[in-house]
Amino acid sequence: MDLIRLCMWKMIAVVTLATSASAQESFAPLTFDDVISGRAKLLDLTYPLNDHSPYWPGENYQPFKLVTIATLEKDGVLSKAVSFPEHLGTHIDAPNHFEADRPSVDQIQPEQLFAPGVVIDIAMQAEANADFALTLDDVTAWEAEHGAVPDGAVVFIHTGWGRFWTNYDRYKNQDARAALHFPGCSQAAAEYLVQERNVRGLGIDTLSIDPGVSKTFDVHHVLNAAGRYALENVAKLDELPATGFYVVVAPIKIEDGSGGPARVFAVMAER
Ligand SMILES: [Zn+2]
Repeated sequence: MDLIRLCMWKMIAVVTLATSASAQESFAPLTFDDVISGRAKLLDLTYPLNDHSPYWPGENYQPFKLVTIATLEKDGVLSKAVSFPEHLGTHIDAPNHFEADRPSVDQIQPEQLFAPGVVIDIAMQAEANADFALTLDDVTAWEAEHGAVPDGAVVFIHTGWGRFWTNYDRYKNQDARAALHFPGCSQAAAEYLVQERNVRGLGIDTLSIDPGVSKTFDVHHVLNAAGRYALENVAKLDELPATGFYVVVAPIKIEDGSGGPARVFAVMAER
C-alpha cells in the first residue's frame, strides 16, 4: 500500500468512526443511589411560576394568578389557590395539543418522561436572525461532532432566548403587526429527529418549539402526530453540556389536559 492510499484509508476509517459513533457513548453510567446521595449533578431546568411568567399570547390566555385563601395568622394554616393557562412558564405540550386522538398530558406514559438528553446550540444564528429555525444541516453538523442523537432522547434547542425571560415583551418580541419573532425548530429537523432518531420530545428556551413567525405550527404537528411532546420555556439550557446527561420531566397530571407546567431536571455524573 503506497503512502497516498494509506492516508486515504485512514481518512475513510476516521470518517466512518465519527459517523457511526453515537452520542450515547458519552453517557456515564448513573444509578439512583448517585442521585439520592448527591454524587450526581442535578440541574433544575424550570422557571418559578409567578404573575410575570411568560405565556402564549393567545386571545383567551391569562397570566398566572395566585391568591391566599388561608393564613397562619388567621387560620393556623397557609393555603393558596392558583389559576393559569396550561401553556405558561416551563411546560409540556401533550400530543393532543395539535392532533386529535393523541394522548392528553395525564396519559403520557411515565417511561416517556425519562430520557437521555442532548443540546443543539443555535444561539449564534438566533443572535443574527430572531426568526431562525434549527435546520436539518445544523442537526447533521451536530451529529458529525458528537455522534448520532441517542435513541429516544429529548433534544433541547438552545437559542439564547433565556436571557430575555424576565422581560416578557422582549421575550415574545411582537412587532407592530402582532407577529412574534423568536427562534425555533424547522419542520425538516423535527421530522428527522422523530423519524430517524425516535426522539421522545423536543425542548426549547422560547415560547414555542415552532419559530414565533410560524402560522402553521408544523413542528408541533410533526411531534404530536407521532405521539411526542414538546417542552417550552425551558431554563438553563446554557448551563448544559451538548450531551451526556439524562432528563426527567414531571408534568402536572391534568385529566384530558393539552399540557401543563412541568418540573424538568437534567441529571448527570459529576465531572
Ligand atoms: Zn405549549
